[in-house]
Amino acid sequence: MQSETPKHLRHALDVLRTKEGRFDLQDFTFAELAQLSIEGLGEKAYRGKQLFQWLYLHLAGSFDEMTNISKSSRAQLADVARVSALEHVGSHESADGTNKLTFRCHDGAIIETVFIPSENRNTLCISSQVGCAMGCTFCFTAKMGLKRNLSASEIVDQVAQARKLMGEKNGHIGNIVFMGMGEPLHNLDNVIRAIHILVDTNGLNFSRRKITVSTSGLVPQIRRLGEETDIQLAISLNATTDATRSSIMPVNDRWGLDELMACLREFPLDNRERITFEYVLIKDLNDTLDDAKRIMELTRNVPAKINLIPFNPHPNTPFETPSEQTIDAFQQYLLDRNVAVFRRRTRGQDEMAACGQLGKPGDKEPAHVRKRLENFRNQPPSGDSSASA
Ligand code: SF4
Repeated sequence: MQSETPKHLRHALDVLRTKEGRFDLQDFTFAELAQLSIEGLGEKAYRGKQLFQWLYLHLAGSFDEMTNISKSSRAQLADVARVSALEHVGSHESADGTNKLTFRCHDGAIIETVFIPSENRNTLCISSQVGCAMGCTFCFTAKMGLKRNLSASEIVDQVAQARKLMGEKNGHIGNIVFMGMGEPLHNLDNVIRAIHILVDTNGLNFSRRKITVSTSGLVPQIRRLGEETDIQLAISLNATTDATRSSIMPVNDRWGLDELMACLREFPLDNRERITFEYVLIKDLNDTLDDAKRIMELTRNVPAKINLIPFNPHPNTPFETPSEQTIDAFQQYLLDRNVAVFRRRTRGQDEMAACGQLGKPGDKEPAHVRKRLENFRNQPPSGDSSASA
């Protein structure tokens, strides 16, 4: 049975015919670009392959560079299509070499992408939405609320442009993490499409094992991600009881810890090593040895790796970073019990490029964030559960 032509491809074919509107070439998979070449340009399928290679192997910035595409096809495309979904408008390099790249979308929306250098493997932290609807109280991006989803082309172009901007100077980008602005599983269609483009061996050719999608815990979407991709999964855990997790992550009201962990126990793991649990350590809120003990209980029966992230402060937050002594004790408790636990080094903090610091919120916090934050502003975390295990 012939598969149905996807909506965005039908739109592009219409635009090519009527010359009304515009589309982004980076929205299409390899197979779809072949279809676009045949049905939209009257060319052979291999033109699609050439276009794909110009976009992702040669990182072309304009149709003029695509010298092996016929002049008439280039002219047809230049009229109605964009090579690049984003415009690079700024870079802010931190003292530690982390570089926050700022891009403008075609509607003027601004998004941020963070290049994190490392001796063996550079990582790119990419955004999936403009702002975020999830309202996690410890997160700066949450204060923007959700403006809109990013298209697949806006997700993919962060990687293509970063490879061009950073690659020559800093070497290869080996890892991609969906941990920038937004909840990736809230924009799952476009994230899955972007992943298929990023891993295509005809183009950017990222290993599936080097792409990690991080989620706050949308259970049905985690199942779908497991069915339709085989990338790595990270869970933003951040608390070990439903009461504490719900107080900082509204998503927990919908899918509590029992339901989340049950879903993770069934997550297909062939080809994957472990699920990563991100744990932002907040002073007197979730940093006790009881919490460390409960992390072990929660992740029993799940191949797990724990990443501890000391809270990165941002303006007007009621939360604080635990002391070094508390962080060390927390990690040591888990290490002593053979848990794979790592402390994520804080990177890019001086340029607000660290985890949970992205975006530019306005003065007014969205109501769902303000309501939960007010609880903490009126009564800061008390540390009343600090009995040691
Ligand atoms: S932590 Fe992630 S999911 Fe939560 S509000 Fe921030 S960007 Fe959204």
